Amino acid sequence: MPQPAVSPVAKPIIVTDPIAIREQVRAAQARGRRVGFVPTMGALHEGHTSLVDRAACECDDVAVSIFVNPTQFGPSEDFSRYPRSLESDIAAVAERGARWVFAPEAESIYPPGWATRVEVEGPARRFEGEIRPGHFSGVATVVCRLLLAVPADEAYFGAKDWQQTLVIRRMVRDLGVPTGITVCPTVREPDGLAMSSRNAYLTAAERSRACGLFESLRLAEQGWLAGETVAVIERAMAHHLAERGVTVDYAAIVDRDTLDPLTDETSPAVALVAGRLGMTRLIDNILLPLRR
Ligand code: AMP
Repeated sequence: MPQPAVSPVAKPIIVTDPIAIREQVRAAQARGRRVGFVPTMGALHEGHTSLVDRAACECDDVAVSIFVNPTQFGPSEDFSRYPRSLESDIAAVAERGARWVFAPEAESIYPPGWATRVEVEGPARRFEGEIRPGHFSGVATVVCRLLLAVPADEAYFGAKDWQQTLVIRRMVRDLGVPTGITVCPTVREPDGLAMSSRNAYLTAAERSRACGLFESLRLAEQGWLAGETVAVIERAMAHHLAERGVTVDYAAIVDRDTLDPLTDETSPAVALVAGRLGMTRLIDNILLPLRR
């Protein structure tokens, strides 16, 4: 019989029950396998699959969770219209060799009468924490819950959500969660726009202006290397965003580990931007090169 040109991809095991996935992960670890975990809200794009690829490189088995977490959305945010595409997401992670897709129902993550939240302070206070009250508490709560269900050796997150990575690192350290955290680079469209499930909301006109976020970050990098002050660079970033028709929530240069204002302009810094194009809110960041 003729062989197929491409060998068929192994289907991941789809698990909805947190206890069942924990047992399967534990059993794999008992056989000496290193397990990697990529938590997502689905509507997967190359940013997400880059995390799966990294996990597959570094681990024997990879679990990907797909769960649109209601507690990290504010009451007027996009929870109900957030894109959902479970079938194509499963196909995408199958191609990348994931062993499990964990797609729980909300009731198994938040059982009836649930009354426990994980509240992180420190890096959660400013920026997204100010603009989206309760958001990081929702993120920390669900990531903590997911890491209990999927007790992986290593979990993989994107630098695209820089503040989120700091909040998760803090939560994992403070609670002694025995999973390592790896932060992977932001994957971008050819014009620099960071890939995001929310890019699908943009109209064609908004999409063409959305690269203004990345352009403002590049401006920040140039100003930073040229030795300009933080205040001057932040003004230039905000001005550029406004010119591109982005309603600015913030455009800031801060300490990359604490998100506090820089006391010393030679310490490691990150440039953060957030703004709205019509109904769509986008965020982005870049780590700035060290300045002597
Ligand atoms: P989400 O589904 O938006 O919750 O994202 C799931 C994970 O994918 C998070 O760790 C994100 O930071 C990461 N991620 C989202 N977009 C990108 C991107 N463009 N590049 C790298 N990682 C990303």
